[in-house]
Amino acid sequence: MKIGVFGGTFNPPHLGHAEAVRECIARLRLDKVLVIPNALPPHKEIADGSPDAETRLRLTRLGFEHVKHCAVSDMEISRGGVSYTVDTLRRLRERYPSDKLYLLMGTDMLMCFERWRDFEEILRLATLAVFARRGGERKELFRQSEKLRLAYGAQTRFVEFDALDVSSTGIRALLPERGGADVLAPEVYGEIIKRRLYGAKPELEWLRRKAYAMLEPKRVAHVKGCEREAVRLAQRWGADVERAREAAILHDITKKEKLDEQLRLCAKYGILLDEVEKREGKLLHSKTGAAIAKYEFGCDDEVYWAIYWHTTGKEDMSLLEKVIYMADYIEPTRDFEGVDELRRLAFSDLDRALELGFQMSIDDMVRRDIRPHERTLGALEWIKKGNRQQR
Ligand code: ATP
Repeated sequence: MKIGVFGGTFNPPHLGHAEAVRECIARLRLDKVLVIPNALPPHKEIADGSPDAETRLRLTRLGFEHVKHCAVSDMEISRGGVSYTVDTLRRLRERYPSDKLYLLMGTDMLMCFERWRDFEEILRLATLAVFARRGGERKELFRQSEKLRLAYGAQTRFVEFDALDVSSTGIRALLPERGGADVLAPEVYGEIIKRRLYGAKPELEWLRRKAYAMLEPKRVAHVKGCEREAVRLAQRWGADVERAREAAILHDITKKEKLDEQLRLCAKYGILLDEVEKREGKLLHSKTGAAIAKYEFGCDDEVYWAIYWHTTGKEDMSLLEKVIYMADYIEPTRDFEGVDELRRLAFSDLDRALELGFQMSIDDMVRRDIRPHERTLGALEWIKKGNRQQR
């Protein structure tokens, strides 16, 4: 068998890594490739704020799960300490005594190869399969391979393909700026966002796509409008615009779910319900939506609570909670008597707008013979009191 060995920090694993493995498999006709994330890299520091080794291992598994003939091994991470390739190859040689080992690496690794621990032994254990990470690197790759061949008898195979010009370092810089989705496997990106690894914030187009896919198509326009209004209100009143966007985009993601699914989600995320909520599925979507925003999309507590309270409101609402409640109420697709007055007030006196909003929803429920939720009644009393004091 021809077995490739691809080590790295994979912090995080990206599409450039997966592509390199696919190309090596195809061009060298490898039977399989072992991808081996290191515990501690010998040649560089692990960047501050990086996830732990187990998390990198999980990301690496996600990053390579669709690459055929490829398996991710935890042998270096479970060995712990600094991961020297020579130790790994010795073990692999024992495990595969008569197979041919290929050590896969990009230019950056080949250029510093003579600094690797026991590199001459590595050359006896494996053939180097080398590839350029950028077009301009080919010459130095050839020169270095030739040098290693003449000096140490290195056996080298060149794998020619146009590598993706990306690096984990570059991606770590992009993630907090709402970038990186296009150079990571979807599963890796989803996991990074879910846990907000590397200080990541979701790309807004990605988040919208995910959120809209969870909606009934007719509700998309409402959510788009809500995002627009939430941003305008946040700017007007000094709330956090970024959080307002995330909350607005996600606020209705479980709206279409029926009561049984809502109850399942409540059980899954440990959401406690009062008697009214147990019967009234409509009131549950704000709680289950908040839980999914937090546990699946990694939103912080402020966003969580803004979604949580967006249907009933409550006493002591934060500025972001008020913004999302109001944006949901006045977004452009809403059409009911009094909405224009509410829109005007929302930008001139937010608390007066909330008072009117709570009052209007209570009146509407009474008209429809539905008992208003006591949290909305409490919210109305609370906001009225504040508004009276202001007058
Ligand atoms: P960092 O930016 O943190 O140094 P990296 O992107 O170089 O990370 P590593 O995990 O250090 O990724 O690299 C593992 C292996 O993958 C190395 O052999 C490296 O040359 C190779 N490699 C990294 N990026 C690419 C790429 N875009 N195309 C092909 N090979 C790559």
